[in-house]
Amino acid sequence: MLRALSAAALLLATASALAQAPATVRVDYNHSGNALGEQYALERVLIEPLPWPGSLSQNFDNTDRGQNRLEVVDAKTGDLLYSRGFSTIFGEWRTTDEAARVSRGFHESVRFPKPAKPVKVRILKRDERNLFSVVWTVDIDTDAQDVIRAQPPAPAKPIPIRVSGPSPDKVDLLVLGDGYTAADMGKFEADARRLSDHLFSVSPFKERARDFNVWALAVPTQESGVSRPSTGLHHASALGTRYDIFGSERYVLTLDNRALRDIAQNAPYEFIEILVNNDTYGGGGIFGQFSTAAAGNDWANYLFVHEFGHHFAGLADEYYTSPVAYAAAAGRPEPWEPNVTALRDPTKLKWKQHVKAGTPLPTAWPKAEYEEYSRAYQKRRAALRAANRPESEMSALFKEDLQHTTELFSKQKHVHAIGAFEGANYEATGYYRSEMRCIMFDRSERFCKVCNEGIGAVIDLYAAPARAK
Ligand SMILES: [Zn+2]
Repeated sequence: MLRALSAAALLLATASALAQAPATVRVDYNHSGNALGEQYALERVLIEPLPWPGSLSQNFDNTDRGQNRLEVVDAKTGDLLYSRGFSTIFGEWRTTDEAARVSRGFHESVRFPKPAKPVKVRILKRDERNLFSVVWTVDIDTDAQDVIRAQPPAPAKPIPIRVSGPSPDKVDLLVLGDGYTAADMGKFEADARRLSDHLFSVSPFKERARDFNVWALAVPTQESGVSRPSTGLHHASALGTRYDIFGSERYVLTLDNRALRDIAQNAPYEFIEILVNNDTYGGGGIFGQFSTAAAGNDWANYLFVHEFGHHFAGLADEYYTSPVAYAAAAGRPEPWEPNVTALRDPTKLKWKQHVKAGTPLPTAWPKAEYEEYSRAYQKRRAALRAANRPESEMSALFKEDLQHTTELFSKQKHVHAIGAFEGANYEATGYYRSEMRCIMFDRSERFCKVCNEGIGAVIDLYAAPARAK
């Protein structure tokens, strides 16, 4: 009875909060170019079916994350109404070899609470000195007649996995499924519950679990699993999620942003993690866009949390020994990501408040020994994939690798220290991480202190502080 009452009270609170919420505006556009230049073109403006899920008291993003920044300003006065940092798949693709040879276009969207007046929507881009400049401005009147206000009925209904309160007061995480057939829907719900439960067992999500709502939504597909072209597997899936992005066999993304947004808009959401119904190791994550994880893999827990770290908080990869599709940035500019640094000036280290007196910068770790082992391990990993061996052999290799690293690091003086450990951000030299280990470095179970704080700042941006009663 008490439970029923509190659920009813929660529903009432949710209804009243949403009654005051503005509509959600989405601007769809094309972002195209190559290694040398980029262009933007407006496609359409829509009013999404659900009200704005964010807190109106948190319209400005001061976390300084992302390659890009969205600014919505009053068209007349220029007053800033809304801002958010984000990164794009185009931005990643531009650093691949292909971008030196061909131009490609990517569909992108930005969303913001519906303004009462005409606005200018600006996209800014960061340069190597970490200064932003405007790369695109478009005038938008969200009451204009060409704005799309009616949408087809939702192709599926969101399942509430964890509802802590009204959407504007909470971080709304949407778990989308791709490659799940109608018969797989029970499995999808179980996967969404299992993996989100795991997320909330990892700090700082654990301590902040009540700041989150989690929804799950999947549009059934004809076949189980998503495309993996490198093994000849081609499936039409609802979100277009696929392996082998940019030629990297374990990189899983969708490049079909319109399909993604048209499905996602049927649930309240600020963040998206896509579960693919596959057993093969793989995932991906783009800050402010979405992350992905192979739900059926033995390492799905790790994939879910690690990739969410990229998407949710803009955390950089702290590893550097696995092959990636990206070319190195010239001159090692200081990364904007909070958890890696070029260490130009150790006295200005961005996490220096956590460094204990007496910890040397850079900080010693068994780098050569680790790299020697890593080279052998990467060879075995590539050989397993080349021979298309069963996934259980890959899972076993990952386990062996983790055990080896744990043993090697456990003997080190600085195993629990916060310092500056060389090797991070895909580079063996010139970039540093804050601790020897982190879930952004290897398949260990915890975020380092710096990542932990980086995540906390984003939770604070989306979850309103508890209201005084
Ligand atoms: Zn970290």
